[in-house]
Amino acid sequence: MTFRCAICAEEHEGLPDIGLHAPDPYLDVPENERAERTTFTSDRCTVRDGDGEQYFVRGVIVIPIHGQDEPFGLGVWVSQSRANYERYERNEEMAPTFGWLANRIAHYEENTFLLKTRVHFGVQNHRPTIELEPTDHPLAVEQRRGITLARAWEIVHSHMPS
Ligand SMILES: [Zn+2]
Repeated sequence: MTFRCAICAEEHEGLPDIGLHAPDPYLDVPENERAERTTFTSDRCTVRDGDGEQYFVRGVIVIPIHGQDEPFGLGVWVSQSRANYERYERNEEMAPTFGWLANRIAHYEENTFLLKTRVHFGVQNHRPTIELEPTDHPLAVEQRRGITLARAWEIVHSHMPS
């Protein structure tokens, strides 16, 4: 469906999903130390520091869009316990787990890093979906109530290089 965008005044077709490349603790590791202290794939990441090892998985925050069948997907990283990380690695069937959101998402003024989430593991080869704790944080509110298509495009534009 074509959408006339109020931000750039262009007509848009399909809404792209937005994804954050890596968990922030990974990006905090200086590049010349990453080979030694981290592991990284498109779905999983580990980061070692003085306190031990941290485990992260990539998932999707699904946000409904008012009046649309297709929701908006925001790809982010969440922490996992070592045990759950390894179960995910082995493709085991998993009940929902706890995870801390591991990204500062730039389009929210309020920090999103370390928001509490529940991670739902889907069928094989599907990324886990991430449910925010139902607080009044704008991200949690948007996931709960849904957003307009205009707001979704506003988010997309805020992640595009200008
Ligand atoms: Zn636009």
